[in-house]
Amino acid sequence: MKTLTVSVVTPDGPVLEDAYQMVSCKAESGELGVLPGHIPMVAPLTISAVRLKKEGSSERIAVSGGFLEVRPDKVTILAQSAEKPSEIDVDRARKAKERAEARLAQKQSDIDFRRAELALKRAINRLDVKENNF
Ligand code: ATP
Repeated sequence: MKTLTVSVVTPDGPVLEDAYQMVSCKAESGELGVLPGHIPMVAPLTISAVRLKKEGSSERIAVSGGFLEVRPDKVTILAQSAEKPSEIDVDRARKAKERAEARLAQKQSDIDFRRAELALKRAINRLDVKENNF
């Protein structure tokens, strides 16, 4: 079975680099499935889970936006943050979710509202990736 190298990079450094058979992710334009030999492309990612499939197993990573760069033999994901389930602190994500919900309930500027919405999405995404809720 053919594979492609997937590399996930954040400002804190590399999170993962390995060979996989398929990458599934959620671009702003919709769900994307990338197999080896895919045509080159660049796409912005949403706050979502990236799924990585290997022979007989699959992994997932929570990403908070960023970009996907596809080449026939390599996928690079550049994200502001990216965590494997084992790296996700549930308590921290629950607290971030509560803070964001409290902020959304207040009357505030559009910018603060938007920031709170994004924080809420990041927290929910982390909790979903941790619990494999999809
Ligand atoms: P918080 O309000 O808890 O900081 P946040 O969504 O604002 O959450 P980010 O700005 O997305 O946090 O991330 C900052 C750094 O903290 C990144 O390195 C990210 O991987 C890490 N991080 C954030 N939340 C968690 C979490 N629940 N578990 C593990 N790492 C986290």
